[in-house]
Amino acid sequence: MENKKQNKSVAFLTLGCKVNAYETEGMKKQFREAGFDICDFQEKADIYIINTCSVTNMADRKSRQMIHRARKNNEQALVVATGCYVQAQKEALLNEQKLDLVVGNNKKSEIVELVLAELKQKEAEYERARFEQDIIKEAEYEELMIENAGERTRAYIKVQDGCNQFCSYCIIPYVRGKIRSRKPEQVLLEVEGLAKKGYKEIVVTGIHLSSYGIDFEGGQDFTRYGGKPLLSLLSKLEKVEKIERIRLGSLEPRIITEEFLKELSKLEKVCPHFHLSLQSGCDETLKRMNRKYTTAEYLEGCERIRSYYEHPAITTDVIAGFVGESEEEFETTRKFLEKVQFSDVHIFKYSRRNGTNADRMEGHIGENIKTERSAKLIELGLEMKKAYNEWLFGREQKVLFEEDVIVDGKEYVAGHNERYVKYLKPKTKENIHNEIVTVTATKMLEDGTLLCG
Ligand code: SF4
Repeated sequence: MENKKQNKSVAFLTLGCKVNAYETEGMKKQFREAGFDICDFQEKADIYIINTCSVTNMADRKSRQMIHRARKNNEQALVVATGCYVQAQKEALLNEQKLDLVVGNNKKSEIVELVLAELKQKEAEYERARFEQDIIKEAEYEELMIENAGERTRAYIKVQDGCNQFCSYCIIPYVRGKIRSRKPEQVLLEVEGLAKKGYKEIVVTGIHLSSYGIDFEGGQDFTRYGGKPLLSLLSKLEKVEKIERIRLGSLEPRIITEEFLKELSKLEKVCPHFHLSLQSGCDETLKRMNRKYTTAEYLEGCERIRSYYEHPAITTDVIAGFVGESEEEFETTRKFLEKVQFSDVHIFKYSRRNGTNADRMEGHIGENIKTERSAKLIELGLEMKKAYNEWLFGREQKVLFEEDVIVDGKEYVAGHNERYVKYLKPKTKENIHNEIVTVTATKMLEDGTLLCG
């Protein structure tokens, strides 16, 4: 890309998951290199890029609102939308009067060229026709390198895109396509660059991280590889100087085998924090969700993790009110969560996605019941979180401090330990941002956050 001053400003807005945040950083880098100025989304910009999300109806609504907000900020601006909502709502967006350009998920590495073409020709039809061709197909991993992870002290590294699992409630395989993994040497290059910039913690993430590398071997089922490509990548990252912590993104329960943990636990920088996606604690519901493990297998995975790590943090996601979830099934899930004793749970109300198998199923649950069930699980989640955090009292923990916050009118610096428990330390003149400091918790707040001296 030609590096000349464009005299144009670009503003970004990111909705949704960590992968989206990561990809926005990649796009910013491309625009910076092409000579554009990056400005705040609230400012009057020449170009607005909204990296949308489609994980829930709420996310869809927010994506639409932000497209309108951009147009309101500057009537003359070029308004561009990319991300999962774009993929999922293609038809609606093509008729969207306020939008100039839509960029498919697998065209993000070409976004600068697309925008330049649009600016020059002012022919929205041209790019829309290209978008038509963007319907997901088997493709190579699309390289989007980042040098900077925004304001954060923790850098998210995307190592894989796409998913072959087709959970019945999920639109992602349709909008992001099949598994494509990033070459280990590219990941390494990026992590080395981030380490030089001072990042101490990286989070290795992907749409279906457990499938990392299966496409290198031409394989379809990630369980055949026992997580070997992922282990091999992690052992390379472990050697990057100045990176002190490697955190794993969401993993599939089926990757947690004895062999996998035996190798993983040798990697000292890998945090004892495992996000094992559960979605339901009832086998019948799991079957309808097309999740391919049983609760017994899940529990076994958690027990294995506990046998390799001291007081590991096991976090999860659960969907409340999935199609056909009876009161009995819900109760089974609630009891299963109690049995596992998670350190944190993220509860989502089931959100109907057009075009998925679950959408076509009979027995959709009313919104009020979903809200009720979700509230019960959130309450249980908080109890479990506090019980887990109790163990940390009186124990020294290494906390990576990240940002200033104000809690009850007092100034603190907030950070996380290796187990991803949030700590607050009273703010002093000493700047401890991006420092790993050994602290001991003395008090717990209502939301489970720990205070230290
Ligand atoms: S594993 Fe299931 S929920 Fe996760 S992205 Fe793939 S299809 Fe969606």
